Amino acid sequence: MIPKHPRAKSLEQRHLIEKGVSKGIVTPTGMIAHGRGEAFDYLLGEKTSVEAEKQIEAAASMLLLAKKPIISVNGNVTVLCAKEIIKLAKVLGAKIEANVFYKPIAKRKKLIAKEFAKQGMQILHNSNAKIPGLNSERKNVSREGIYSADVVLIMLEDGDRTEALRKAGKKVIAVDLNPLSRTAKKANIAIIDNVVRAVPLLTKKSQKYKKKPKKWLTGKVKKFRNKKILRKIELRIRKG
Ligand code: ATP
Ligand code: MG
Repeated sequence: MIPKHPRAKSLEQRHLIEKGVSKGIVTPTGMIAHGRGEAFDYLLGEKTSVEAEKQIEAAASMLLLAKKPIISVNGNVTVLCAKEIIKLAKVLGAKIEANVFYKPIAKRKKLIAKEFAKQGMQILHNSNAKIPGLNSERKNVSREGIYSADVVLIMLEDGDRTEALRKAGKKVIAVDLNPLSRTAKKANIAIIDNVVRAVPLLTKKSQKYKKKPKKWLTGKVKKFRNKKILRKIELRIRKG
């Protein structure tokens, strides 16, 4: 038997991103962002750290407490883990909305929605409202989705939008492998893990926590300290 390549999973992700670029769902810049993610993942041992597990537990609690949770998706996460995102949305009773940074915006949003539709899920991809204080195309959102949500789960984000969403009064949970990014620092809860591992674990924890009383969930969120845990992860990387 041919031994499996030690980094088979990371090569598989690279291949999915490559295919996404040829389909026009992922932009070349999205591919560069993936490369940054890959480097951080390598430094973190390509596994979910104990800190990330705590971040995911707090995130599951916050999402279960939300009145109107939404999962914002871009090209990268669509090609990497659309199926897993659908499972999470179902467990949470959350909507999914396409939101992208790079042009052609409407076309890419449509392509993303088509990928989700193939897996049997209708997602929001219209723009009829704006997030104030944001210059990029990311400001254009759906009134029924991100605009009126109370908790937004974002992945592979830019710091500007995280900040604007916070200013608009929303709670933000971000999945980002870089513990030093503005996104990670500005989010209420940052999950420093690869989306391909973080999303399924978030689904598992949410399923388990669904049975917990509200007070228990509130306690989990209150105890969570974003900056403190980010420093721990940074140290983990620096110490090797
Ligand atoms: P910021 O604007 O927040 O300071 P940035 O300019 O690096 O950071 P982006 O260009 O939007 O922000 O980068 C996207 C982020 O997504 C990067 O930090 C990268 O490490 C992360 N990332 C890439 N691939 C993955 C992945 N598969 N899972 C989780 N995070 C990822
Ligand atoms: Mg940025």
